[in-house]
Amino acid sequence: MNASGAVAAARPQVLERIRADARFVLATHESPDGDALGSLVGMHGLLVELGKDAEIFIAPEDLPLPLEYRVFSLESLIQAPPADIAQRTVVFLDCGNIDRNSARVLRDGAHLLNLDHHHDNTRFGTLNYVDPSASSTAEIVWDLMRELGVGATPEVAQALYVGLITDTGRFMYENTGPRAHRMAAELIEAGVDVPGVYRRLYEEVPPEKLALHARALSRVQRFDSGELTLSVLSGEDFAEAEAEDTYSEGIIDQLRAVQGTKVAVLVRELTAGERKGQHKVSLRATEDDVDVSAIARAQGGGGHRRAAGFTTALAIDELISFLRAAVAAQLHVASDEHPAATPA
Ligand code: AMP
Ligand code: MN
Ligand code: MN
Repeated sequence: MNASGAVAAARPQVLERIRADARFVLATHESPDGDALGSLVGMHGLLVELGKDAEIFIAPEDLPLPLEYRVFSLESLIQAPPADIAQRTVVFLDCGNIDRNSARVLRDGAHLLNLDHHHDNTRFGTLNYVDPSASSTAEIVWDLMRELGVGATPEVAQALYVGLITDTGRFMYENTGPRAHRMAAELIEAGVDVPGVYRRLYEEVPPEKLALHARALSRVQRFDSGELTLSVLSGEDFAEAEAEDTYSEGIIDQLRAVQGTKVAVLVRELTAGERKGQHKVSLRATEDDVDVSAIARAQGGGGHRRAAGFTTALAIDELISFLRAAVAAQLHVASDEHPAATPA
């Protein structure tokens, strides 16, 4: 069965589980972003509206949420998987790979619904509604709501809107089409405070965040005639700027925007948790000629063609060599020659 056939087959089965089952737990990927949280809150609202018992699981290491996402009230939040997990249907949202959720016990749920839009989703669910043509997982939740005839409260509409605008880069990326704009129109009709949402997400910037961005932008490195644009933030940068880990959000978009860039990379040292001292690598491609998810997969990560990531223990110079070779291998397949060895 091809991908769209599989989506078409999974959708009614997912709807059937939502109608039939009584108890749910909702989960997403680690370091949840706007789409992860927006789809959690949206799905929770949908299930509550249908009279279901639904809990939202977020691991303690992912809390408190980044400042901009504290708009979510996160009703029914639990920080440990429920004891009755074997009687619950687990809904994974926006999670391309089950290893991106640390709670292994969630795998013991009665059913595992995998609702996602990553093309490299590993289809780990008992039911996999994976639609890579959806702009966001929020769009998949919105589709289910409409099919089930459930209206969005202003809070649910706002949550789905956050998922939509964060994953489309505020309606800028190639996943923005008529469907995304129709969804936005309907959500606004349901009560989204548009300027309020944008202000909370993208403004109210703490000065420490600005200081961190200044550091990253003051030492942008360009390789191979500018095809690769990269910046590195060390643990010291975070300490000196007095910045939290999540304050690096947004830097990658500025690197991606630099003239001549094919692939933008932000490398940041993790300052806490199990992988402290390792580096989180965010990748963005400007066009379709490089699939950054393939580069991320080669290092144990994943993502979308134009936005992907991984975490690595490689030293910075080895990492940069790997990235240069990986980008060149995709861009210069026909050529035997290596691109210029010196940074441009
Ligand atoms: P980020 O650079 O963290 O904003 O992530 C960009 C995209 O890559 C998102 O769609 C993530 O879900 C995906 N991604 C990031 N890190 C990983 C990882 N370690 N494994 C799989 N996918 C990832
Ligand atoms: Mn996400
Ligand atoms: Mn997403």
